[in-house]
Amino acid sequence: MTQTANRARLVLGNWKMHGSLADNAALLDALRAADAASHCQIGVCVPFPYLAQTAQALAGSAITWGAQDVSAQAKGAFTGEVSASMLKEFGCRWALAGHSERRTLHGESDQLVADKARAALEQGLTPVVCVGESLEQRESGDTLAVIERQLAPVLALGREAVAAMVLAYEPVWAIGTGRTATPEQAQEVHAAIRAALTKLGAPQVQVLYGGSVKAANAATLFAMADIDGALVGGASLVAEEFLRIAAN
Ligand code: PEP
Repeated sequence: MTQTANRARLVLGNWKMHGSLADNAALLDALRAADAASHCQIGVCVPFPYLAQTAQALAGSAITWGAQDVSAQAKGAFTGEVSASMLKEFGCRWALAGHSERRTLHGESDQLVADKARAALEQGLTPVVCVGESLEQRESGDTLAVIERQLAPVLALGREAVAAMVLAYEPVWAIGTGRTATPEQAQEVHAAIRAALTKLGAPQVQVLYGGSVKAANAATLFAMADIDGALVGGASLVAEEFLRIAAN
């Protein structure tokens, strides 16, 4: 297993709202058929309705799975929400929290994202908390301030909670656009996140990069000191490409 400063490499797929029972079966079979043990840690975050299929297809394999969102609430009259305890029943390891599509399309606030992370942790899931700046924010020189603001309520959960999370830096302008941050651009933000984690006493938290990661650019991103793996959208829908990213 490849490691960065003793942090294990992790490559997670985010299928977004893609898939069908037939397409998923082929993709999951292909992932399972690969010798997952010889790659880094791999996981897939799938749409809620496909969790049962995913759990069945990957049971007993080294590949983990999870959801793309989780409710901040434990239970009750929250129509359309899915709780962390429900995800747990389907064997989920991961719950994304604060993906930029949730923040921008569904108005999720920084505090709500932290509340979702806390709810996931309470059920023993690992929240994958996503942060990232828009193109406008980058161009106005606000990148690090935006990341700091987004992380503040998450870090306020305290050292023990944060140590049990994964963070993902996903510049909004690089998601689904084919425009990847350069390794240096990504590393600058990862280093700032690492500094905040170190200050809190949780320097070993894995920090993933996300935004148009593919097999062709993964190696240079993974070579950066503070990039511990990737959160992969589009390329995670093609088994061979996803596995090639993970094989780096
Ligand atoms: C994502 O959805 O988290 C993502 C990074 O997407 P893509 O890899 O397609 O840019």
